[in-house]
Amino acid sequence: MEVIIIGGGIIGLSSAFYLQQAGYTVTVIDRTDLSDGCSYGNAGYICPSHFVPLATPGIVRQGLKWMLNPKSPFYIKPSLSSSMISWGLQFMKSATKEHVERSAVPLRDIALLSKQLYEEWAQVPGLDFSYDPQGMLELYNTPENEHHAADTVRDAAALGIKASLIDKATLQQMEPDTEIRALGAVYFPGDAQLYPNQLMRSLQLYLKRNGVLFRGKEEVTGFVTEGNKVKGVKTLGGVYAADHVVVAAGVWSRELARELQLRIPMVGGRGYSVTLENAPYKVRRSVILSEARVAISPMNGNKIRFGGTMEITGLNAPPRMQRVQGILESVKRYFPAYDVPLPPADQVWYGYRPCSADGLPHIGNMERYPNVTVATGHSMLGISLGAATGKLVGELVAGTPTSMNISPFKVERFS
Ligand SMILES: Cc1cc2nc3c(=O)[nH]c(=O)nc-3n(C[C@H](O)[C@H](O)[C@H](O)COP(=O)(O)OP(=O)(O)OC[C@H]3O[C@@H](n4cnc5c(N)ncnc54)[C@H](O)[C@@H]3O)c2cc1C
Repeated sequence: MEVIIIGGGIIGLSSAFYLQQAGYTVTVIDRTDLSDGCSYGNAGYICPSHFVPLATPGIVRQGLKWMLNPKSPFYIKPSLSSSMISWGLQFMKSATKEHVERSAVPLRDIALLSKQLYEEWAQVPGLDFSYDPQGMLELYNTPENEHHAADTVRDAAALGIKASLIDKATLQQMEPDTEIRALGAVYFPGDAQLYPNQLMRSLQLYLKRNGVLFRGKEEVTGFVTEGNKVKGVKTLGGVYAADHVVVAAGVWSRELARELQLRIPMVGGRGYSVTLENAPYKVRRSVILSEARVAISPMNGNKIRFGGTMEITGLNAPPRMQRVQGILESVKRYFPAYDVPLPPADQVWYGYRPCSADGLPHIGNMERYPNVTVATGHSMLGISLGAATGKLVGELVAGTPTSMNISPFKVERFS
């Protein structure tokens, strides 16, 4: 049976991994050469600690305040495009306490499943991605966030996720290599870190060795349908027949879904990162700077990556270096010895998170075309939830029971 996967990001490759294992003939089609994109330059967190979706009460008010500051971590470019308006309305509707409470268990379950699968992948000969189950520190610097941290620890405990509040002295003992300016931190010992660029390269090589076909620089433009079946995909180069199609095209899945009369409100949440090779700066664990929404990731021994910003803007807008400057200035406020100059624009990475309207992914078979599986909308968590999503896609294609309840991720929930 022929399966075509549209999109060679983490969701597409992870799906290919499980589909190939199950014996399908798998082709991955991507419009790029599969060497960059959102799944590469991200922070690499595997984070069951992130059981709160992007759409939360207060985010809209906070976002409006931040919009006035060009170095702030969040920005929405005012736009009259219908897709942006539709996403914005759904996002505001979803940003409730009830939604946050409803989302915690599904986000926890998919994250824990994913972490377990990454641990299995780390044992697979030929798959190398510098997996490090070191835990994560979320630093805070305001009394308001200290309260918030205490709430997070309580909510995590209720979900069975290990988390503890640690004071400044303990924080400094845990991270002795540099001075840290923070009131304290939440420590999540169950989180892990990987090196996403290495993961993506290694997965591609592994999949190719195991018979998965890759068609790079080929853009899918539409589908061949017959009744309630998709019979193939159209690209600029021709038509590829398929028994089953997986739509895993990140933020661009919105347009592909529309071709199939499926509405998925989604926008690209652009984020930036700067990576130093052989860095003089060392942290032993992944670190989040709460107030600045900045991630610091130690990777693969001697690398360090600084990442952040959620910029909801057009997918072709030029990068805004002031935001990168904002990230690096925030780092210095917490880590005074970290003097990282703004690199030239060509050394700054950026990518577009596929941000669904309620912060939950869309994973499932389409009602209208049951031989199409959609797997997208992972927002800030595509790497963390990637391995589990691939496994779920494998199960959905095979029509076997899924490893967890995926009804909260229903593909048609906004249709
Ligand atoms: C700064 C930053 C830090 C982040 N940190 C983390 C983190 O620590 N942990 C975490 O879990 N997540 C993190 N993320 C989010 C994560 O990177 C994304 O959720 C994830 O990469 C999305 O993967 P994807 O496979 O859905 O999409 P993508 O990686 O965008 O892949 C989609 C692919 O589809 C292809 N495509 C699109 N349209 C077509 C078409 N028509 N035809 C053919 N191919 C097509 C694209 O070329 C692309 O290669 C971060 C993101 C950013 C920006």
